[in-house]
Amino acid sequence: LPTAPVTALQPDDVAALLPRPRGADHKYTRGVVGIRTGTAYPGAGLLSVAGAATGLVGMVRYAGPDAVFEQVRLVHPEVVAATGRVQAWVVGSGGGEAAGADLASALRDDIPVVVDADALAHLPAEPPVPLVLTPHAGELARMLGVERDEVEARQLEHARAAAERWNAVCLLKGRHTLVAAPGGDVRVTTTGVPWLATAGAGDVLAGLVGALLAAGLAPYDAASVGSWLHGAAATYASDGGRAPITALDVARSVPAVIRTL
Ligand code: AMP
Ligand code: MG
Repeated sequence: LPTAPVTALQPDDVAALLPRPRGADHKYTRGVVGIRTGTAYPGAGLLSVAGAATGLVGMVRYAGPDAVFEQVRLVHPEVVAATGRVQAWVVGSGGGEAAGADLASALRDDIPVVVDADALAHLPAEPPVPLVLTPHAGELARMLGVERDEVEARQLEHARAAAERWNAVCLLKGRHTLVAAPGGDVRVTTTGVPWLATAGAGDVLAGLVGALLAAGLAPYDAASVGSWLHGAAATYASDGGRAPITALDVARSVPAVIRTL
């Protein structure tokens, strides 16, 4: 594999890449993201929507189970049912039986897809659309058929291997998150805090990256800017690491981080 240097986005880089509305924009030109979550963890639907509904896109559409949508709407009344066009899909958060079918359905649209959680086990050998894969070490180990310890010991090599194998951006989550592009480039994210090791944090990240894709960022930029904002939002919500946080706190702190850019 190529050994391109590992870089880190700086606040100015994130500010330059961040989608911002122009005067002539309306909600559809700002991007519409579609979220399709599963039933094993119904709350993942809400958290993934929360990560997407931070104001960076014009609209969030929800395409998961009706029972989950009812809950989603109570917290995010702006979210609409996914019957119209979207510019990016987020699939797999929340797990369950339908993850494979949900991914297959998303891959039929000619738009980029964030693939998370259980859907990562159903990747086709040659994906027909640009993908951002968002595994943690255990999920990446299963994808590559190796032990979790092996991934944790050599994160860079394994993130790059997945990027090459599926010709996709691989965002390997962990204490330091690595975003590997096919071709060997890697960006590392160090904006987070250990309080981020909390249930649902990954679902928020998947939604956030999906929103950035829908707003028009290239997959490598969407993944690395999303990861940077997610970590910075956790640091902000935890008051610089002094206080515990939950996943929803992270989503709700994204606008406050953007204000500082
Ligand atoms: P998931 O495993 O899908 O719930 O995602 C967990 C999220 O928390 C990811 O964004 C990880 O990068 C982040 N995370 C997990 N452990 C740590 C840690 N020790 N320090 C900082 N971030 C972490
Ligand atoms: Mg997860």
